[in-house]
Parts: sequence; structure tokens; C-alpha cells
Amino acid sequence: MGGPRVRAAVKRALGRLRSRRIAPGMTILTYHRVGGNSPDERDLDPAAFAAQMDALAERDVVSLDQAVDRLEAGDRAPSVVLTFDDGFADVYEHAWPLLRKRQLPFTLFLATRYVGGEMRWEGSTAKADGAALTWSQVLEFVDSGLCTIGNHTHSHVPPDQLTVAELDACNAEIENRIGRRPHHFAYPWGIPVPKLEDELRRRFRTAATGLVGRNLPGQDPVRLRRVPVRRTDPLEFFEAKLTGRLIPERAYGALVTTAKKAGAHA
Ligand SMILES: [Zn+2]
Repeated sequence: MGGPRVRAAVKRALGRLRSRRIAPGMTILTYHRVGGNSPDERDLDPAAFAAQMDALAERDVVSLDQAVDRLEAGDRAPSVVLTFDDGFADVYEHAWPLLRKRQLPFTLFLATRYVGGEMRWEGSTAKADGAALTWSQVLEFVDSGLCTIGNHTHSHVPPDQLTVAELDACNAEIENRIGRRPHHFAYPWGIPVPKLEDELRRRFRTAATGLVGRNLPGQDPVRLRRVPVRRTDPLEFFEAKLTGRLIPERAYGALVTTAKKAGAHA
């Protein structure tokens, strides 16, 4: 829908509608890339990412396990969980120094097949430059005590190709490299796969989707909801992700869907 300026202007207007009330429950933010030099909406400008981390200074940013502990205890206290999907090298270069300085816990969902190489699969954000993290960078994250490593399948397969073998290959590789088996999973493309939920429950404490929403006590742990962060999100739109009922986020999502449908018919 429109160019980046139009998107940012629409979001700025929607952001003004944000509630000031900090929302209860766990808000999981989804990041992919920071400063990767791609035009993709999921690749954030480093200065915008830094401003977002500053905006989180007043919030309770906790690890995924801590947030899930609270939900399981019936605690509705607001918490923010930072997640990074895929494993792009630009996260090490541009996000890691800020996370480390602020001692912010985060979860990295790794597609293990690409670690140490290029992040290339059908529909990947990697065009010209898509270097993946190396295992030594991943180990540096883990050794800091700030990072939880999660499973994002071995090959970043589409939902109809998600298999137990893909889950287990990723788990085995992570366990082999960092000595710890992952307890959390994120669906590639954010799309739930109901027929694999029993297998996911056997292997993981949680599975995170791309469905927009927050998580309150009673939320099904293999259908955690998240809130995406995008390049054209102005700071007030980012702040709206943490307050109220996500009305600006949902309104923007509906606008994009409508625009895409209109475009398809044009
Ligand atoms: Zn992904």
C-alpha cells in the first residue's frame, strides 16, 4: 500500500489514536533484520531500532521463559519479550551492541541450515546482502546470558512442508553447537500448523505465530501471538504496540489487506 512515506504517514496518524494505558499480559515483539541495507519492511533502520530500545527503558523486558512463567502463574502483569527471527548477521552488527549495553534479554529463532552462510530460501528477505550469523556470534549471544535460542526449523520451510524431521534437525544442530536443546519454537512465515501441534507440544514449551495479539494467562502455548515491528513504523506507532488493545496495529493491517485486494483486482 503506497510507498514507505505513505505507510509511515498513515501509521503516524493511527499512532495518535494509541491508548496511554500499558497493556496487561505478554507482548512479544517480532524483529527480523536491523541495518541490513535491504528495502524490506522487516529490515529496520538502526537509528529507529535504537529509539525503540530507548522507549523500552520504562518497560519490563523479560526473557520468553520468565514471561511464560508469569502467564502460567496467572499473572497478568505487563511484560515485553523481544524476538528475532531467522538469524541474520546484521542483528549481530546493529542490534546486539544496543541489547548488550541495555542488558535486554531476547530470543533468537534460528533456521539452522543457513548459519555461517547466506539466508536464502524461497521468499527470503535476502536479496543482494543476506549474510547469516556465524555459530561463534550465536555463542557470544548465549554466553552473555541474555539470549534464548529457539527453533525456527532447519530450512525455513513453508507451512505445508513443516515436518518432524525439520524440527528435529534444527534441535539437533543447536544442541550440538551450543550444548542446549531449544525449548521454544517460531513457525516459519508465522503461520500455525494445527496438524503438528501435538509434536510441537512434545518438544517445546511454546510455539510463536505471526498472528497479531498479546498473550494473557490461559493462552494456548503453541499459539502465542506476536506484534511485528517494521521499517515504516514511526516511534508513536511502535509505542502503540505496547499500550491499549492494538487498535492502530489492527487498523493498519486491515488497510494493507484491503489495498492488496484492491491492487489484485486492478
Ligand atoms: Zn522466518
